[in-house]
Amino acid sequence: MATDSSEAPFTAKLRAPEALTFDDVLLRPKESHVEPDEADTTTRVSTSVELPIPVLSAAMDTVTESTMAIAMARRGGLGVLHRNMDVERVVEEVERVKRADELIIHEVVTADPEQTVRDVDEMMEEAGVSGAPVVDDAGEVLGIISSTDVRPYLEVGERDAVREAMTDEVITASEDVTPREALELMYEHKIERVPLVDEENRLTGLVTMQGILQRREYDAAARDPEGRLRVGVAVGPFEDERARAVDGAGADVLFIDCAHAHNRDVVDAAREVADGVAADVVVGNVGTREAAADVVEFADGIKVGIGPGSICTTRVVTGAGMPQVSAVAQVADVAAPRGVPVIADGGIRYSGDAIKAIAAGADAVMLGSYFAGTDEAPGRVVTMNGKRYKQYRGMGSVGAMQSGGGDRYLKEADEDEEFIPEGVEAATPYKGSVESELFQLVGGMQSGMGYVGAETVPAFKERAEFVRVSPAGQTEGHAHDVVITDEAPNYSPDR
Ligand code: 5GP
Repeated sequence: MATDSSEAPFTAKLRAPEALTFDDVLLRPKESHVEPDEADTTTRVSTSVELPIPVLSAAMDTVTESTMAIAMARRGGLGVLHRNMDVERVVEEVERVKRADELIIHEVVTADPEQTVRDVDEMMEEAGVSGAPVVDDAGEVLGIISSTDVRPYLEVGERDAVREAMTDEVITASEDVTPREALELMYEHKIERVPLVDEENRLTGLVTMQGILQRREYDAAARDPEGRLRVGVAVGPFEDERARAVDGAGADVLFIDCAHAHNRDVVDAAREVADGVAADVVVGNVGTREAAADVVEFADGIKVGIGPGSICTTRVVTGAGMPQVSAVAQVADVAAPRGVPVIADGGIRYSGDAIKAIAAGADAVMLGSYFAGTDEAPGRVVTMNGKRYKQYRGMGSVGAMQSGGGDRYLKEADEDEEFIPEGVEAATPYKGSVESELFQLVGGMQSGMGYVGAETVPAFKERAEFVRVSPAGQTEGHAHDVVITDEAPNYSPDR
């Protein structure tokens, strides 16, 4: 006899709801007037931070440090610095990103008029600059010296004072100079750098031709209102000091980094962090609508992913998890009506997965393994069986937890204790520059927008529909019944 579920609580559990992930669904093609190249990928990663492309690199110690963050932001995405480094170092890393394409250099390498020519030459080489304003003790600009003034020591001796070798007719400007005005000054006077001064002719900054040209090269970069590159930083839910320090250093978005943020202590701590910093605060990870409802009030963004990651073993170790497409959709149901962006984090192997995540309600996607094999990720290239790889490890792996990441999994970070890892240490094929990876990823996503006929990310989220895929359909969707002879840059059957 059938029993009413209230009388049979355990068997009732077995009528479990279905949850889907990337391979279970496909985008239903629709009539389209959108060419892929025209599809606009602009999105928001948090309530006040817009990105030209909806892509983030993961906060993992084998994926994102400042080099990756700079590369991501220059191409319109966002790198999220990992937290397996002390507070002092992460502040330096934030500063490195912020200084990377700065129009006005504020920490200027300067020369002293009484220094010898040889001295200043060595100093400039060490600092990696080819010219320096010469300032007196009061900071007043007396001249400018460049490597061409001091080399090959034609008219001045190595031991002469800088004062004699410098150019003393200096073209200066004030802090409010625009890139165009600075370039005009440079062309007019055939110079490569313009010192900026205050009313008393004291040095306040420097604009260089190289800096201006570099900014032009990255015209679709993700920049803050001051024109500096954007950067995200992972902070532990209970790491107030780190949160305040990186906020002070100019981080744009803080990411509360926790494997299971739907935990009362974590939610309370995250709320406090959000109240105490100027930066936007993205809270994660979560994977259900109830969790989203608990953080949506104060979060500037919500990050989704309980166990989808390529190096993640959470689901097998703990028995808990949520297939990613359903997780994203549940969270987006709660977050979208409140205008809070959603980030799909983990499990993305192909550009098709990334655009499916957006169709399910995400505003942006975060990837680890996709970028871990690139030059810009930390770590060196190793060769195994004649193929090149880079190390990639879960932040819940033994190695990463020993380096300080244990509290992401709400475990005490005690080095002597045995860990219960929720991730593995692995190797991933070496892929070259992140630029070509991003090109393939974003290009594939734009093609997906073309198939659905949506010109913008918000329009795509609304217009995209899924169809369910059977196991036979999945096989049909991959390259099949052939021997692949040339690897495609965006496809490998065993990813
Ligand atoms: P991937 O893009 O490689 O599939 O997934 C990257 C994401 O996996 C990260 O952004 C992070 O959310 C998650 N992650 C990183 N390390 C671990 C780990 O050791 N265990 C678990 N459960 N998730 C991890």
